[in-house]
Amino acid sequence: MTKVIFTILTYQTRVQPKKFVRVVILADMSKYFYKDIKLIKKCRRCKVEYRPKRYSFFAALSLCYKCRRLYYDEWYQKRYKPFLERLTPSERKEHDQKQYHAWLVWTRKHVDRRRKLALESYHRNKNKHREQKRIADKKRRAKVQAG
Ligand SMILES: [Zn+2]
Repeated sequence: MTKVIFTILTYQTRVQPKKFVRVVILADMSKYFYKDIKLIKKCRRCKVEYRPKRYSFFAALSLCYKCRRLYYDEWYQKRYKPFLERLTPSERKEHDQKQYHAWLVWTRKHVDRRRKLALESYHRNKNKHREQKRIADKKRRAKVQAG
């Protein structure tokens, strides 16, 4: 029989000694012993609890899902955009090629996710030029009838 123990406790982290982090420890006391530690962290902006993976980038960032969006926007405006503006045209071209290569690698690695993104993009943009297309078709039909 397996026995699962749930415990919630707070402990001091080694990285940030003054901060306490709540964790959930799941332990299976059978012959297949494992201990799964799940973090519960508080967002440093809005103090909402969120559960990142242990040792992940999101655990180190200590921002919740909503605040992460703002953080990325700020990072893009204050760090990445000035960096791009500083580059010379040849450097920029090299940078773009590297980015494109990284994107190609990502698409090869995550085919299903890429397909999902592409489908979402298709449905988002399919009606964008509907009105212009309708007007163009009308003009073409009028031309055919006249000529
Ligand atoms: Zn937050």
